[in-house]
Amino acid sequence: MPRHRPLFVVALVVVLALVATVAFVVDRPVLMHRMLAARAGEYLVPAHLEGFALDTHAPGVHSFRDGFDRGLLVETTEGLVVVDPFSAKTATRLKAALDARFPGRPVRALVYSHAHLDHVRGGAVLAPREVIAHERCTLAWRDFPADDILAPTRTLAGDATLTFGGVELRLVFHGRSHGDTLYSIHLPASRVVFAPDLAFVRALPPGGMPDYFTPGFLAALDRVEALDFDVLIPSHFDVGTKADFSAFRAFFRFVNTLATDEVARRGWPESAADGEALFRAVYEPVRERYRDWHGFDEMVMPLLIRQITGAALGY
Ligand SMILES: [Zn+2]
Repeated sequence: MPRHRPLFVVALVVVLALVATVAFVVDRPVLMHRMLAARAGEYLVPAHLEGFALDTHAPGVHSFRDGFDRGLLVETTEGLVVVDPFSAKTATRLKAALDARFPGRPVRALVYSHAHLDHVRGGAVLAPREVIAHERCTLAWRDFPADDILAPTRTLAGDATLTFGGVELRLVFHGRSHGDTLYSIHLPASRVVFAPDLAFVRALPPGGMPDYFTPGFLAALDRVEALDFDVLIPSHFDVGTKADFSAFRAFFRFVNTLATDEVARRGWPESAADGEALFRAVYEPVRERYRDWHGFDEMVMPLLIRQITGAALGY
């Protein structure tokens, strides 16, 4: 009997390990979270947006796209204007594309649309004559690794108009909105707006929209809505029209109004049933209208949680 004990112990350990593995694998929350992570990957880079491309939207007005990210490129007689280099990888791909398409044309100016690190890295490879950004950007980078961000040579505060070779770029400052350094860029002659991290074409924002103050974000949407333009270039996903901008603004207002009204009507939940009822009161009308938008399933939860919490806390 004793000589069977080691075998028995080994068998028991193997069985317990198998049980633990099976329990982990079939654990519903774990499965759910893994599925969400996989879906988030598909959301971020849908197949039709893989790779690098230059797209033209009006004479001399282009966007460059690298997977999920999209920046603005404007031709002027003084040289090229680039808005947002994104990363060393993207800026290097852009540099190669510029050398092939516009040989010998310098980058007259590199403009940062706002301070967020996913927009501003790697610009040195473009060798711009000027780097232009809101004055608070350098403050925003102080507490983060920022060695690969080309420092601004000219800072702005508030609205500004940049003119290069007769091409006018109107920079519309949004204050505390998405961060507190955000500019949209209006090209009135081309009827184009670059609206970075402000609107998306029939798509939910990533992560439910990062780093925003709701009243300021709504005001920024109103301000761009009032501009006269035909082409909307967002900083992520597809390019669209003024109607797409209006649709995104309506979507965001709809979610915000529902969250604000339901929190005001019901108060903060006092039971699990209250919590579920509050969530469903916001979720179901939003799903009814917007379930066919890109990323609805992946990104609706963080957006609604953020909006309900923001309505209750005031942010
Ligand atoms: Zn951003």
